[in-house]
Amino acid sequence: MKIPESLRVGAQVYTVGFDKNIRDSGLAGECNFRALTIKVLDDRPPTRIQETFCHELVEAVNYEYGINLRHKQVTQLGMALYQILRDNPGVFLEDGTETACS
Ligand SMILES: [Zn+2]
Repeated sequence: MKIPESLRVGAQVYTVGFDKNIRDSGLAGECNFRALTIKVLDDRPPTRIQETFCHELVEAVNYEYGINLRHKQVTQLGMALYQILRDNPGVFLEDGTETACS
């Protein structure tokens, strides 16, 4: 999974990056709704970094869409999203063909 440099969530564009300073807060990732940033600690295995990114993405979705999930639910959805994206590589890439969703 490629971690993007920015990501549109709802009407906002979040800047995504790596930041060693968040280690001091004891966090592996951080989603700042005011600054529109997602930061991930980068000194961990790639799978942990990717899982953390998915968690912070769900945090942004939860906030931008006013879903009001509890943090445990955010964690579970983040892990599920990561597993689906990881285990289905390329499924969501555009290949120029139109497909219908039902
Ligand atoms: Zn969280």
